This record gives sequence, C-alpha cells and structure tokens, in this order.
Amino acid sequence: MIDLAVDKPGKFKTLENYNQSLKEGYKLLPFRFIRLDEERYVLTNDVGEYLVISQGSLPAFVNKTIEPGSGLYNDLKSKHFLLDDDSSIALELVAMKYRTKMQQVSSFTGLHMFVVTLRCDHSCPYCQVSRQSEDRATFDMTIETAAKCLDFTFRSPSPSIKIEFQGGEPFLNFDLIKWIVLEAKRRNEQHQKDVEFVIATNLALLTDDILSFCLEQDVHLSTSLDGPQDLHLANRPRPGSDSYQKVISGINRVRAVLGPDKISALMTTTKASLGRSKEIIDEYMRQGFNAIFLRPLSPYGFAIKTKWYQSYDVQDWLTFYFEGLDYIIELNKRGYPFVELYAGIILNKMFSPWGTGYVDLQSPAGLGISAILFNYNAEVYASDESRMLAEMGDKQFCLGNIHENSYEEIMLSEALLNPIEQSIVESVPGCQDCGFQPYCGSDPVYHYATQKDSVGHKALSGFCKKNMAIMRRLISLMEDDAEAKKILLSWVKV
Ligand code: SF4
Repeated sequence: MIDLAVDKPGKFKTLENYNQSLKEGYKLLPFRFIRLDEERYVLTNDVGEYLVISQGSLPAFVNKTIEPGSGLYNDLKSKHFLLDDDSSIALELVAMKYRTKMQQVSSFTGLHMFVVTLRCDHSCPYCQVSRQSEDRATFDMTIETAAKCLDFTFRSPSPSIKIEFQGGEPFLNFDLIKWIVLEAKRRNEQHQKDVEFVIATNLALLTDDILSFCLEQDVHLSTSLDGPQDLHLANRPRPGSDSYQKVISGINRVRAVLGPDKISALMTTTKASLGRSKEIIDEYMRQGFNAIFLRPLSPYGFAIKTKWYQSYDVQDWLTFYFEGLDYIIELNKRGYPFVELYAGIILNKMFSPWGTGYVDLQSPAGLGISAILFNYNAEVYASDESRMLAEMGDKQFCLGNIHENSYEEIMLSEALLNPIEQSIVESVPGCQDCGFQPYCGSDPVYHYATQKDSVGHKALSGFCKKNMAIMRRLISLMEDDAEAKKILLSWVKV
C-alpha cells in the first residue's frame, strides 16, 4: 500500500522528496484489511498487529484525512499502520518485530517423528493412518533404520530436538523406543542439544515396566480421549470394548507415577461428537485436564476409506467448535480456568512477539523444516499427514529413503522445496491480500488431498473457511466482550 513514488522505471525520487511528503501528512505502512461484520473492518500488518475500525474510517485512513492526535490516529500510529514525522524509530521497530516473528524459520527442524510400528490393537474407523493388525511384524521399524534416523535427527541445526514416537500403537514396539531414547541420549552427550521425548499412545497396553522407563528417562505421553465413555467407545473400538476404561486408568497411572503434567490428551471430532461439545469438555475437566484441542477429522487413511471424513462438513464442525468455545469462555467466567488450544495458537500469533511452532499456521509451512517424519519402512515424509497420504497410495510428499538418500538430498528434494515455496502465504493466490493472513498459514498436504493442488483454491478450501471463521469470531469476541477478551488474552504465553 506504500506509494512507490517512482518517476519512471528504475529512477526513485530523492530523500528530500520523501521527507517533504511526510511534512504534508502521514504515510501508509503496508497493511491488509478484511470485513469483520456489516459495520467494521479489521486492519492487519506483517508484524501481526490488528486494529478494528468502522466502515467509514477505512476510506478516511487511506485518503490520509484522519485527524493527527485523534484516538484513531494514535492507534494507527502505535500499531504501525501509518508513519509520520515523529516516527523516527518506527521502521527499525517494525523490522525487529518481523524478525522476531520469523525466528522459527532459522531454528529449522525441531520435531522428529518416528513411526516405530504401524501395528495397532485398536480399529478406529476414523484412523488417519491405515493401521495394521497387531501380529504383522513387517510393519515395525528396525534398529538399523532407527539408527539412520538418529543420524539424520542430529544433523538438524536446531538447538532443541523433540523426538515423538508414533504408530499404529508405539507400545507394540516398545523395545525399539527404549533403544532410540538411550541411543539419542548417548549421542547427545556430544551434541549437547535440548532433547525431549514423547510417545503418542492409546495407553491400552501400558505396563509398569513402560512407566518405570518413562520415569527414569523423562519421557512424556500423549493420548487420545474423544469424550464421555459411550462416545469414546463408539469412536475407538478394540477387542473387549474397554478402550475408555483403559485410557482413563492409564491417564491416572501415568499421573501417579510420572506426575500430573506428563500426560496430555487429544480428541477427534466425529459425526457422533456433533452437538456434544459441552459433554466432551466436561469429560476433559472431570479427568483433570485444563485444556482441550477441538480437532476436526483429517482427509486421510481410514477416515476416507470408511467415508467418516465425508460424514460432516466444515460448517457442521464450526457449529460444534463455536458451541465448545462459547462454553469454555462461560466456564472461565464462572471461575474454572480452561483453554481451547487451537484458539490459543491463533491468539499467540496475534499477541505474542514470536511465531508459532504449529506447522499448519506457519509461513512457509513447517513441512520438513519444522517437523519431519521417519516411517517404519525407512521412508522420510514432510509431515505426519504426508505419510497418511502415502498409506493411501499417494507418495507425493515422500522425500526419500533414510538408507538411500543423504540429509542434503532429502532436505533439498523437489518434493520438499516445491510445497514449501507454494506455502508462503504472502504470495499465495487468495491469501496474499487476506486480512487474516498474518495469523494464518498454508496446509499444502490438506489442499493436495482435497483439491489435488498444494496451493489450493481458497474459495473452495475447508482450511480457509475454518480459519477465517475462527479468526473473525476471536476478534469479534475481543471487541465486544471485555471479560471474554481478558480470558482469551490469558491464553497467550508470554
Ligand atoms: S487460507 Fe484463507 S483465511 Fe488463511 S490467509 Fe489464506 S485466504 Fe486468509
């Protein structure tokens, strides 16, 4: 939006000319805008500031007729939407804020996911992974493959490495997990990185030996809890129909042995969850959690084969999500602190000086450069969703094989560089002018899975519809409800 002030191609006006123009009023700094509702617009800029202004104020601002010293003028100036004669350090400040927001790009790959087995004791119809039955050891990662994956992991320049074990059900190959944890710690004596471990597990096969190992080696656990007993059992069948009992007793055992903060839980929204967001949140509170991540189904694996993914649409999910969000805010107002984690990620993008580690809300997307996945069969994928797509027969985002390709070949492969380039929202068609862009991101794998195009047509994109609706709702809440604003701001990590 800045005037380029060019006389003719290749020739810029003099500095005096710019200084003179400032004395005549203010200059616009780069910004985007989008409607909030019938009467208001949201202005945003690249450093993540936003300002809600009335419909009439937008043309006045652009035509440079806002009265200097007025409240609106001062807000526009302090949030870096305009520049005047007094703004001597404003541009340096904007540059510094931008560098801080983008810092995560230079940290490079932190999260390394190891799919230690594809075997699983559950048979969830919405499974996004295409798990295998328990007895098929050909779907286990070998020690030789794990060793090569660790070579790769420690090539990352990131000072912080998180190793996450995934499946299938990772406890079915727990001997390999033990080997990887001990070997990673041994290697880290030389690298001196900040290394942490987490196992994503349904907890049904938890044993005292596993708990002792996790205690000794400071391994965290993450599990799945879909809601109250009947809903969890319907979503997550296993022989004996005891998935709910197993996960609840597992959560309690982990808390008793490892401590209350060593276990987290994730839910997945199925058609049966719709209309039950309050019950699901109540279940999380009853089990002692102070946060929930209200997640939609993803378009991969068994969720596609069983047609569960198509069983509701984005609007159905948004209705479910907003019922849940409203309820959580209500609980907070009644004195029960509780967080919705997806809103928390967006709010952190809005109000914290730093970017997010959440790969789908990064620009460029975090594919490979924030998170990378080693599959049980030695193939390397750009993300968890990429391997889910591969299990359906489409290896579009397979970056190579850990035994056959070097670190450089994998990280510089076209399969990685192309989607990363296509995920820079500042240049993506549909996103480049979007007012919510500083808080959004790009999900090339989702768009490829749903539209066969990594960029995706945003007017037809469920990802776009979801994020736009949530961002609009969060900003409206903060504008119109002072108590809700205080609650939402408390979800920002400082
Ligand atoms: S995906 Fe949609 S909401 Fe997000 S930046 Fe692009 S156009 Fe905006």
